[in-house]
Amino acid sequence: MSEAIAFLPPQAAILSRRAEILADLAELVPAGRLVHEPNALVPFETDGFIAYRRRPLAVVLPETTAQVAAVMKYCHRYTIPVVPRGAGTSLSGGAIPQEDAVVLGLSAMSRILDIDFANRTATVQAGVTNLNISEAVGADGFFYAPDPSSQLACTIGGNIAMNSGGAHCLKYGVTTNNLLGVKLVLVDGTVIDLGGKHLDAEGYDLLGLICGSEGQLGIVTEATVRLLAKPEGARPVLFGFDSAEAAGTCVADVIGAGIVPVAIEFMDKPAIEICEAFAKAGYPLDVEALLIVEVEGSEAEMDAMLASIVEIARRHGVKTVRECQSATEAALIWKGRKSAFGATGRIADYICMDGTVPLSQLAYVLRKTSEIIAHYGLRVANVFHAGDGNMHPLILYNINDPEDAAKAEAAGMEILKLCVDAGGCLTGEHGVGIEKRDLMRHQFAEVDLAQQMAVRAAFDAAWILNPSKVFPLEGRS
Ligand SMILES: Cc1cc2nc3c(=O)[nH]c(=O)nc-3n(C[C@H](O)[C@H](O)[C@H](O)COP(=O)(O)OP(=O)(O)OC[C@H]3O[C@@H](n4cnc5c(N)ncnc54)[C@H](O)[C@@H]3O)c2cc1C
Repeated sequence: MSEAIAFLPPQAAILSRRAEILADLAELVPAGRLVHEPNALVPFETDGFIAYRRRPLAVVLPETTAQVAAVMKYCHRYTIPVVPRGAGTSLSGGAIPQEDAVVLGLSAMSRILDIDFANRTATVQAGVTNLNISEAVGADGFFYAPDPSSQLACTIGGNIAMNSGGAHCLKYGVTTNNLLGVKLVLVDGTVIDLGGKHLDAEGYDLLGLICGSEGQLGIVTEATVRLLAKPEGARPVLFGFDSAEAAGTCVADVIGAGIVPVAIEFMDKPAIEICEAFAKAGYPLDVEALLIVEVEGSEAEMDAMLASIVEIARRHGVKTVRECQSATEAALIWKGRKSAFGATGRIADYICMDGTVPLSQLAYVLRKTSEIIAHYGLRVANVFHAGDGNMHPLILYNINDPEDAAKAEAAGMEILKLCVDAGGCLTGEHGVGIEKRDLMRHQFAEVDLAQQMAVRAAFDAAWILNPSKVFPLEGRS
């Protein structure tokens, strides 16, 4: 698999000036914040998309916006590629460097700057982890809603760059719906502020543009996010079905009836078995598919919403309905779901696909996915944000077997094309990165791509920010 995806060829002129560049960068960041020894660079060679790796020219770990700006000004002046990096949990290879690139790591910028309960906002540096925000305000009855399963590690800067989602985004929206402002370092080192503590930033919606721009329009160094009050109560409920298709159609009917629980998560039988073995969450093992549906509010509100959902589930032949009885049980149910990728990694290597489909197509796409996987003689575990139609087939393979790896990649590409052809799109929350870059022409016409590239070029005419990602490489140098 490792040579299938191309990177822009390294610029010989940059590589030949490495010693000089390292000396210059050392002047721009505090002592110990420049990483260049070969062994020390290894952790920065890849991210959550482990099938690919490249050793960067160097890594800088600034502590302030001013240092980020100085690094950008320098790299812009000498046209040195820059790859921003948060925690490196990207599943699409977004943070994988190229050989002539400086990795700009934001993990040292991990301070919470301001918590403002009156305005219900938190302002944090880009390297603060997603979970840190909720932990910082939890005792006061607040939380930050987007909750990627990687929230223990991933940073708010990475979340913004990928417009990340999570299990509870069905009701609360993804990162873009919870972001109010950013401090952004532009490619030439200029620092700008977009938005603030108020809703709806003035002027063009540049904040919306930055969210999901995969590190190609600027470096986020600070973010102001929305805080929400914790609900009065929350209850996850397990619904077990005899087929994946019945579960998929049930999801479509719940949303189609205008019912919006906080979360609707799906697991097929392999995923149930993998997660149960890891978390001992009490998932039913005698069903083919499981939905975790969480409702919240007062007891009366939760009872009313659940009654409507149970009625719809019965129409789809639900086999098991289990209401969670305690906070401990609820925590275990979510632990199992949120550990799904890690638990899968205990039994096999996997690549995680991330297509999104209209809910009416869920059952069809699940069936066709099984057929594609069977055609390649592979195994799959499906565990995903069903309420959002955001599918995550985890294709199991052996990373040390090139034939197996090539099959996994081919099956994954077919599944993503299937999602597009079913009226959906290539990515729900993991971004395009390098993983889906070569499929962009399946989703977009040339004229659409040209327009998007023009927007990117308006921010970065020299194309130095994360240059090997998102757009097909042909036609660029
Ligand atoms: C086990 C596991 C579970 C996951 N579950 C989810 C999930 O439920 N939902 C979800 O959406 N994702 C999920 N992900 C994917 C990943 O965690 C998210 O994409 C996350 O937002 C990446 O954050 P990061 O800090 O690790 O960023 P990185 O991986 O370091 O970088 C991701 C991208 O953001 C850019 N970037 C990083 N920081 C900045 C910055 N400050 N300014 C500009 N650009 C920047 C990088 O260049 C890169 O393109 C999961 C990953 C793993 C490994």
